[in-house]
Formats: sequence, structure tokens, C-alpha cells
Amino acid sequence: MPGKMPYTKYDLDKYFERYPDVPKEVIIKEDILRLGVHITDAALEESAKFTTKSYYLFSYDQIDVEEMKRQEFLKAPEEFKFKGGPYNLRPTNNKTCIEKPEKTPYKIDLIDGKLQILWENNYLGDLELRNKPPYYRHSLPDGTPYSDIAACNFWGYLSFCTILRNCQYWGTKEECVFCDINTNARKQSKTGRPFMVHKSVEDVVTVFDTIFNKEREPENHTIILTGGAVTNSIGHKDNIHFYEQYIRAIREKIGHRWAIHLQTTALTKEECRILKEAGVDAHHSNIEVWDKEKFNIYCPGKAKFVGRDEWIKRVCDSVEIFGEGCVCPTLVTGAEMARPWGFEKWQDAVKSMQECWEYLMSRGVTPRSSSWVIEPNSALGKYDQPVIPLEYYIEIDIAWYETWKKYKLPPLRNFTPMGPGRCLSVNSAHLDMGS
Ligand code: SF4
Repeated sequence: MPGKMPYTKYDLDKYFERYPDVPKEVIIKEDILRLGVHITDAALEESAKFTTKSYYLFSYDQIDVEEMKRQEFLKAPEEFKFKGGPYNLRPTNNKTCIEKPEKTPYKIDLIDGKLQILWENNYLGDLELRNKPPYYRHSLPDGTPYSDIAACNFWGYLSFCTILRNCQYWGTKEECVFCDINTNARKQSKTGRPFMVHKSVEDVVTVFDTIFNKEREPENHTIILTGGAVTNSIGHKDNIHFYEQYIRAIREKIGHRWAIHLQTTALTKEECRILKEAGVDAHHSNIEVWDKEKFNIYCPGKAKFVGRDEWIKRVCDSVEIFGEGCVCPTLVTGAEMARPWGFEKWQDAVKSMQECWEYLMSRGVTPRSSSWVIEPNSALGKYDQPVIPLEYYIEIDIAWYETWKKYKLPPLRNFTPMGPGRCLSVNSAHLDMGS
């Protein structure tokens, strides 16, 4: 079977010794993200009582939904915090990337009635899951749960709404090679779970009215709106005006207290201005892969419709419209080492990422890392993929943090608290760096 290959046995303590200045929480979090986690039957039944995976964007699973005979897709937690244990770990938030037991040393189990995380069957820490937020009990008149319209993410700090769970970069010549958005939408719909692919303005506003006006939790500060690329119009609206209508309607309902982040393709200054005026605070035009040659292979749709250099120029130019801390493109870190097109040496991949952080941050951009999850339904999942070395993730997190300090940039706007024990982000550990 192609996909992620078995990992080689390793000594976690060696990494703590080799990187004494890096919080252990960062090392463990990156390790869990790259290897995934297995959940035992007992732990799965327990976790079903809490906030479960919503598949708000991609699958982030390392096994196919069709292989989930225990209905993991309905029962696994959306995210979990590990804490305590022999290393006295500070609470650290993670997204759940489900993996088979033979392919990961990490296991979540229910022991003496308590959820714990184990590494190679050694107790590593206690687990904390998030209760379902109050609004999760509501459904729209057609039966769609509110959680399917907007998922609670980053321990409730973000309300995540994927307006369009399809991407119009379509097929092998346009879809990004690490992405499973289109297949995930098709497969999740087939499981029978509620899974709305295109959300209407009315439904989105109804749900945000409940989340922010009627049943707001104090930890909730920000909306993040996203969707696949729009190259043709939808309902006679182009890319900009399609998303603009949602922003205006949400602002009308909830006002301007809470931040709105929007992810779209890279936009011209004029287009950014339209969205800023509508009420967007922060913009993410995800660059995905920094290396020029690899960008063109990994993101053929982006290369075709915008072009790599133009994409980066637009990202940098947009700081003038949104301001520092408010331009936050994602890099799918680790994917640039994927077979068959990736860097062979992890050191070369780190060098490429150091160059990326330097280039962008020196221009006021605050890029963010999303550690690559090898999803079997992405184009890259069809190849044998060796596990990405842990050293790579640790070193790019160090580089991100050092560069961010060097340019004295602000944190990403209302995105998550930063630092170990405080960060709520789940996609990588670079925002858990510090003391
Ligand atoms: S632009 Fe690329 S990463 Fe984003 S949804 Fe489309 S295919 Fe996926």
C-alpha cells in the first residue's frame, strides 16, 4: 500500500537532549503531527462524548475514511491537549490525525477511567478534551447541525467556516498535490454524515448570530472563513464578490468587535481593499511551498492562474492594506520533501524554509506553518512517503521564532495566544515556541 511508510524506532529523549532550548511540548507536538495517533476502542467511545472531528476543511487523517471500521470519523476528538506526565508538560493543543497502531508510537487510551497519551506504550501525559460548545446542539431547519456550518477550532478561540468545501482548481493538472479537499468532500458525503459542500449566506449568518450574539463563549474571538479557489463565478459572483457578500452579511449581524480572517487565492491590492472595506481583518493567501520549482509542481492551479512570483508579490503587497500581523499565508511544511519531487536532504528543506521566513517576515508578513499530514487521498498519498524527519520540524520552528523576534513582528491578529502552555493552534508547533 502506498502512502506513509512505517517509521523507524527512535529515542524521544535524544531529541530533548539535542534541542535543550526547545520546549519539550514543541517536540512532542510536531512528532504527533508527523506520525499521527492511534485511539483505542475504549478511548474512542469516551472521546465521542466531547467535541468530535468535524472535517471542517481537509481530512487531516492518515488513513482513508473507508478503512475506519470503528467509525473513527464520528467519534475521534477534533483536538486534544496533552499535559503533565513524567515531563510535567504544559497543556498543548493538537489536532487529531488518525493513524493505524503499527504506523505510530502514539496511542490514546482510557486507563482507570482517565484518558492518557502513550508513546511506545510509555505513559507520556494526561489528556484533556473539549466539551461540545453550547451551539453544537442546534440544527438548521433542514437538519444540518450548526457544527457543520462553523466548527469550533483552536479550543474555541476560532470559529472555522469552510464556505465552499470544493476547489475549482480541479483535477491532476490544477489541484495542489498534498490536498484532499475535493476527494474528502465526496467521501465524507458518502458516509451519511451531514456535510454541506456550499453554505448559503443565510445559513452562515444564522449560525454566527448564535455563536457570537446569543450563546457566545468567552474564549471565542475570531471567525475564519475559507473555501477552495474560485476561478469561475458562483451564482454570477466572481472570487472577490462571492466572499464579500458573506463578510458584509456577517458584519451586519455581529458588528466589528471580533476579528474576521479570510483565506482566498492571492489578490491584487484593489481586490484586497474591497474585502478590507467589507470587514476582513486578516488575509491568508496560502503559498504552500516556498521553493520556486517545487511550487510549480505542487500547486499547478496556483501556478497556472496566478504564477508563483506574482502570488508572493501580492502577499507582500497586501501588508499595505491589512497591516502587520494580518497577512498570514500558510506553508505546508514537510511536503517539499515528498516523493517523487521533494528535497532529498532535510537540511536543504530547512534552508528553503529559513529563506521563506526571512523573505516574508522582512516584508511585514507573518507566515504560518501547517505540518504536512500525508493524506491517502491526496496526489502525494499515492506514493510511498518516508516519514518527515523530526529534526526538520524542530529546526523550522526555531527559525520561524527567531526570525519573528528579529523583525519584532506582532502576533498573528487574534489568532491564538502564543507560547508553551498558552498556544491553542493545532497545525504546527511554531506558535508554541518561547518560554
Ligand atoms: S488551492 Fe490547493 S490547497 Fe487550496 S483547496 Fe485548492 S487544491 Fe486544496
